[in-house]
Amino acid sequence: MMFTRAEYDCLRKSQDKRRMADIYTKAKRSEIMARIKGSKTSPEKMVASILRKLKLKFRSNDKSLPGQPDFVIPLAKSVIFVNGCFWHNHSNCNRAKLPSTNRAFWERKILGNKRRDNRINRFLREMGWHVIRIWQCKLREPEKVFRRLKKL
Ligand SMILES: [Zn+2]
Repeated sequence: MMFTRAEYDCLRKSQDKRRMADIYTKAKRSEIMARIKGSKTSPEKMVASILRKLKLKFRSNDKSLPGQPDFVIPLAKSVIFVNGCFWHNHSNCNRAKLPSTNRAFWERKILGNKRRDNRINRFLREMGWHVIRIWQCKLREPEKVFRRLKKL
C-alpha cells in the first residue's frame, strides 16, 4: 500500500498539532514525500528487496487469497501484508492516532479496516497459512524486519 495524499495530510496535521516535527529528520521527510510521488522507497518495495536478499521466492499481490496479500511465499506457506500504521490502526503507534476532526467517521473507517484485517488473518490461518503483518513504522529499522523474515 502506498502512502496516500490523505494519509500524509493526516500525519502532517497530527504532527503539527503535537509539535512532532522533530521526530522526522530531513531525510525522513523527503522519504515520505518521495513515497507520495511513488518513488522506489515505498514500504512494499523495501520488503520486496528484503525478500530478494533472503533469496525467498515470492509472488506479489495474490488476488486468489483472502485480503490479497502483498507477498506470498509458497515454500514457507507464508503470506505477508505490509500495513500502513494509520489505515490499519497499529496499536500504540504515534502514526496511528486518529484525527480529532470528523472523529466518528475515522473511527468507523479505521476500526472497520482493523476488523477486516482480523477476519482475513483468521481465514488465512484456517487455510494453513502463516500470516505476517509488517507495520510500516517497523521499516525504519529494516535490519530487524530482515531478521524476522529470515526465520521463514
Ligand atoms: Zn506503526
